[in-house]
Amino acid sequence: MMDTTASDPADPGTRQYDLGALSGAARAPLPARPALLDLDRGALAAFLGDEPRFRTDQVWNAINTKGQSPDQISSIPLRLRSRLAEEFPPALTPVTEQRSGDGRTTKWLFELNGGAQVETVLMRYRDRATVCVSSQAGCAMACSFCATGQAGFERHLTVAEILEQVHRAKDAASPQRLSNIVFMGMGEPLANLERLFTAIERITTDIGIGSRKITVSTVGLVPAMERFADANGQVGLAVSLHAANDDLRSELVPLNRRYPINELIQACQMVRDKTGRRVSFEWAMIGGVNDRDRDANELIGLARKADAHVNLIPLNSTPGYPTTGSSPQQVKHFAGVLRRAGVNVTIRSTMGDDIDAACGQLANRGATT
Ligand code: SAH
Repeated sequence: MMDTTASDPADPGTRQYDLGALSGAARAPLPARPALLDLDRGALAAFLGDEPRFRTDQVWNAINTKGQSPDQISSIPLRLRSRLAEEFPPALTPVTEQRSGDGRTTKWLFELNGGAQVETVLMRYRDRATVCVSSQAGCAMACSFCATGQAGFERHLTVAEILEQVHRAKDAASPQRLSNIVFMGMGEPLANLERLFTAIERITTDIGIGSRKITVSTVGLVPAMERFADANGQVGLAVSLHAANDDLRSELVPLNRRYPINELIQACQMVRDKTGRRVSFEWAMIGGVNDRDRDANELIGLARKADAHVNLIPLNSTPGYPTTGSSPQQVKHFAGVLRRAGVNVTIRSTMGDDIDAACGQLANRGATT
């Protein structure tokens, strides 16, 4: 379905999962007009009405597979290019583009129709290129240490706004192939579920990036995790755990009060059983808060229960959370404790922190402060 409403009163992300006070009201309107990538095949065919039949496939492939904008589709008549360009506004307007000092990370700030802004990050590794995609402008989850959460919720992204981030990153990565997609940018992807599913379906079918190369990160929206497992078998799921007891987790991740750890772990087991894929736990290492041996021991229990992989992320600094990240030695030590207990653990390399593009640093406005 297209988003054509000016405001978002019956928002599926907030209504369906009853997030109550956590969800807040959308502060920015959804676009009044759909963008081209919001159309499904039927809607595109209807729009092309009296054009020859083959046009639908031709335009579909140009925009969805090649990521072209109307003026780039040289295989169609000029009048049709103009008609498409007039009828459908671009989903994203670039505001700034920044590159990290080492050149491996690019961060874009995009403006959406209606004025909200989002960020997208491309990371180039030797053997792969990964784009970190935003699913919402802002976020309603209010995690204390995350810059996006500190700024509050603006609105959900449309299918076109999600997909266009991928297309732009793919262009920028070239000649390197964009190989991986992580829904770890701004927002809670599982609160924007239907649009996320549609975007994933297009990414796998039209852009040609396999579901095993896609990871969705959630703060732990338990009811949505079930639907996710049913719909997206091979897409990876990462769960932002950060604490292994309810007191601490509720402090760091307020949604824990709604879906406490035992329910979350059961949901992880269900995902594992249904999909055959391990969930991974993300753990932002916060000095003196969740990086001690007893935290490691609690985490070991949960990782075993859920058969989860653990991904340690040294906390990146954000304006609203004064605590600093664990030292590199502490991160290594913590990883060692987990590893010796047989837990599968990796340490996430921090990229792009010099341009505030690292985990938890994406913000709505202006980006760099
Ligand atoms: N809302 C989803 C998607 C965002 S993913 C989620 O929370 O999972 C962003 C990842 O970066 C999450 O694991 C998040 O917990 C982590 N993160 C947030 N703030 C961070 C910070 N300041 N330092 C390091 N990681 C952070």
